[in-house]
Amino acid sequence: MARWDDYGLDELLANYPKLQLKEESREKLVVEGQFDLINAQMEGFDAITESIHLRIEFPGGYSKEIPKVIDLDGKIPKNPDHHINVGKDDASFCLGSGIKVLDDIAKDTSLCGFLENTVRNYLYRIFYKIKHGVVPGDELPHYEEGLVQDYENIFGINGEENISRLVKALGYRKRVANKLKCPCGCTFRLGKCDFRLLLPEWRSKAPRSWYRNHWEEHFKPALKSKKKHAKTNLS
Ligand SMILES: [Zn+2]
Repeated sequence: MARWDDYGLDELLANYPKLQLKEESREKLVVEGQFDLINAQMEGFDAITESIHLRIEFPGGYSKEIPKVIDLDGKIPKNPDHHINVGKDDASFCLGSGIKVLDDIAKDTSLCGFLENTVRNYLYRIFYKIKHGVVPGDELPHYEEGLVQDYENIFGINGEENISRLVKALGYRKRVANKLKCPCGCTFRLGKCDFRLLLPEWRSKAPRSWYRNHWEEHFKPALKSKKKHAKTNLS
């Protein structure tokens, strides 16, 4: 179980004395307790001070798998407006688009880093919204539309079809992915375009299986419903 020590478990428990270790195994690490936001602030926006009782589950695949964070107080309204995954498992926080969250985690993989960056940013924005009615700065729409916008910004490519191609390519082995149509909008295969040089970095942030599931969950159904929609329009 040295694994969690590698990610700074001791440091987490020392820095957050209100968090208690609930479970520690190869499969997951669970902590629960009070998490304080004290004068959290984003440039140009009001400071927020709040306290919330959280359950945080780090999966065995951390840091290439996203932890689950749950509000044990019921302080955050359970709806997509407040970026809660309603109807999914146990109403965990929707911390952001998957690839963006994994990218943030990759910048600092320590357990403390995840709390300091991803969790703190999410809570600041949500508590700000509860207090002021809007999130500070830009708000991406929840679900697929938000994913596409976010990935367009990250990868500098346009359109749901191209984003879908990109996520699909990341789910395949390099040799197979290179035969797919390039997501950059050129008419070549990925293997013939310099866009392929961007991919290794993203492959290092999550396993192929994660990208495959991400595609199945968010992009495959979108394509299906569009086809269905087109049919309905014809009839
Ligand atoms: Zn291309």
